[in-house]
Order: sequence, then structure tokens, then C-alpha cells
Amino acid sequence: MWEPVIGLEIHIQLQTATKLFCSCRNSYGDPPNTNVCPVCLGHPGTLPVLNEEAVRQAVKLALALNCTVNKTSYFARKNYFYPDLPKGYQITQHRFPLARDGYIQLRSGKKIRIERLHIEEDSGKSIHTEEETLVDFNRCGVPLAEIVTRPDISSPQEAVEFLKTLRLAAIYAGVSDADMEKGNLRCDANLSLRPRGSKSLGVKTEVKNLNSFRFLAKALEYEIKRQEEILNSGGRIKQETRGFDSQKGITFPMRSKEEAHDYRYFPEPDLPPLILTDDQISSIKSRIGELPWEREERYINELGLDPETARILCSEVEISILFEKTLENFPHPREVANWVKTDVLKLFHGGHRVSPRTLEKILVLVRDGKISRLKAKEVLEEAVMDGKDPEKIVEEKGLLQISDEAQLRSIIEGVLGEFPDKVESYRKGKRGLLGFFVGQVMKKTGGKANPKLVNKILGEVLNGEQ
Ligand SMILES: [Zn+2]
Repeated sequence: MWEPVIGLEIHIQLQTATKLFCSCRNSYGDPPNTNVCPVCLGHPGTLPVLNEEAVRQAVKLALALNCTVNKTSYFARKNYFYPDLPKGYQITQHRFPLARDGYIQLRSGKKIRIERLHIEEDSGKSIHTEEETLVDFNRCGVPLAEIVTRPDISSPQEAVEFLKTLRLAAIYAGVSDADMEKGNLRCDANLSLRPRGSKSLGVKTEVKNLNSFRFLAKALEYEIKRQEEILNSGGRIKQETRGFDSQKGITFPMRSKEEAHDYRYFPEPDLPPLILTDDQISSIKSRIGELPWEREERYINELGLDPETARILCSEVEISILFEKTLENFPHPREVANWVKTDVLKLFHGGHRVSPRTLEKILVLVRDGKISRLKAKEVLEEAVMDGKDPEKIVEEKGLLQISDEAQLRSIIEGVLGEFPDKVESYRKGKRGLLGFFVGQVMKKTGGKANPKLVNKILGEVLNGEQ
């Protein structure tokens, strides 16, 4: 009877060489407090200088997400005190964001509207140990794009699909690695329930810092259940900010509306308005390149792949690049796709990269009937793990498939000679025994007999010569 209404707020770190307002390196994993200067440490008298590359990337992302870019936008100060925010305020965009009114289309065809996309600086990082809290300012001032959706999402599954699509779009557009483990893509979710069919909105809660797709789904599922129980028992939802305990799989209250920050936003006096020309915007647009959903369409329409295969291949940029590179020398999309979406992807997820050359060699070995599909799988694994040449592996291990008719015929005759009763039964009509004979031939040849030929010769010997 209750319908969830979900909106997301996403922060994506932009992949620039330097920070948003100073020339410190934007680099993850460096020793703490080594990428800092008076500007990002908020020393009095310093002035911010806007990083053009960060603006280009934010515009690129906005356009990839079908947003309208505002030719004039403004920076604002968001005031709050926190140890990892040395200035005592964050430079962000408030009333006049960089872009607005975009959307992402889900596979169902439903469009999730994006209300706005703006540029802001990241804060530093507090590291809590048992005895103390340490602060690392390396992340302080790193450029972020914040994306806010309209409350168009109706289920945890839709929320996850939206976030996955957004992440891929950012990666394809080359603006971020959107690595959730490093915190380069972070998500807050707000959720309320309303009677199914109703148009009004209920009281919402916001869950902060959901740093994996699984946590996003879990937190929303938990919040739906929690709110349902309260509403069903006649209670009221309290508007509040909640955290997610990933160990226990529950959300917990962090602060209520009464304790909410008053950020006292005001225009940033040290930065002029951000003005973009039509030429600048269209020049950035021309450099977006192919987006994940466009690539999927191309694989379906031009290469004849089924939608599910296209989706899997495009779900990792590197995988789709390998697929296309292999096609250059082995132009059989479905055959290559079958390898890439199974064995190659499995190796990829295990941290192993397959080169197009290696994959091509394997495909040729199978096509020429030199090795079986099953053996080819082993050869691929070994080639990738040990960096060996597939042809060498086949030679050294004696994996060459037996495709010599005369040789196979004599092996088959030997096998049939061992089972005269079964041959008798087969000839009397127990056709199901064919599989048994094939199995025996495979056993005898260590799986190296060419299965097509084995079937053909077995048929001839069993049916033909009485
Ligand atoms: Zn700096």
C-alpha cells in the first residue's frame, strides 16, 4: 500500500591534475598533508583561482547527463565548522548552479530527472583511531560535481541502476574514475513513503554516505521497512539525517531537522561569476565521445549482438575496448563476444588483463580445429597468468586436437570393440548410447578428439557397417 519516493545526491570527484582553486596536486593515496598550500588550508589573505579544466569536465558530465548548461553560474560559501574544513566554509554553487534539468533513462524507458549539477570543493578527511582523530588535508579543495535528482526513483533497484549508469557515463566521458572504494563517487539517498497512487509527498529521511551499490540497496530496503512499520502502526516519520551501519545492515539517526545546520549561504566574494559562451559549450560537447548507452546501441544495431551481451560488454570500458580491438583482426562479433563476456570477464574481475593479441590467437586455434573450446579455456588462463604465448602452450602441453580421420576411426573401432553388448543394443535401437561412446572416445584421447569428427565417424561405423 506504500509507495517509496526516492531521490539521490551524488558527489563525483573530477579527474584533474590540480585542485579546484589552487595548484596543489589532485592525487589519491599520497602521504597525508603533502598536497597542501595556504589556499587550500584556508590561510587568511589567500585567494582562490578557478581551475578551468575542472569546469570543462563538469560541463562535459552535465552534457552527458542531458543537462542544460547555464551560461552564467555563481559560487557561494556554505558555512559550517568541521575539523577537516580549515576555511570554516566550503565553496560551492547554491542558487545558480552550473547546469540543470538533465536526466538518465533507465532500461525500462523511465527517465529519472536530474534537477541540477554544480561544482564544489571537497573537504579533507578525518581519520578516527581508537585514541585520537587525525586530519589529512590532501583532499581539501579537490573538485567535485554534485548531482541532485528529482524524487523520481521508486525502488532500490531503480536507484542502483541509476547510480551504475551515472558512474559509467562519468567513466566513458573521461571525467572521473568514479571509484567508489576510493570515495571518488559517493551517494546520499532521501526516501519517503506515500499511499500508492497518491501525488503528495510524505516526510523524508536522508541516509548519508552510501559508498557501494550494495549498501545503497540495503539502506533503502531497510528504510522502506522501517518507515512502513511506523506508518502502519499510526506513527509519524521524523525528518532527519541518518547514517548506515553496513555491518548490521541498518540505518540510525544522526541529526534531526531541529539540529540541522544553518549553512548561511552567501555569494563567494572572491570569485567572479562563471561565464561560458555557446562556442565553449559546443566545443566541449563535441569532445564527449561515445557514451555507454550509445555503445550498447551500436553493438546491437551494427554488430548484431543481443541486448544482454551488449550490456555486459559495455559495463566495463576496458572490456569493450578489448572486444573492439580483437574484432579488428578477428571480425566475428558474436564469437568474440562469447569469449569476452564469459572467460575474459571472469579473468578481468580476478584482476587479470587479456590482450587482444592473446584472445585472437585463441580464437584462431579454436576456429582451425586445433584445440577444443574446453582446452582453449585452459590455454587462455595460462597465457594470461604466465604471460606465455597460446601456441607455445598448446605445443608444450600436447593439447593439439586430434582431427585426423584415420587416427580417430581406429580409436573409435578400438572403443566399440570393448563394448560389443552396447554396440548390439545401440543397433537394436538404443540410440541414447551414442553419448556413451563419444564419452569413451574422449576419455581415451584425454579430451583431445575433435568432437564433430567423433560424432560423424561414430555415426558411420555404428549405422553403416553391420
Ligand atoms: Zn592547495
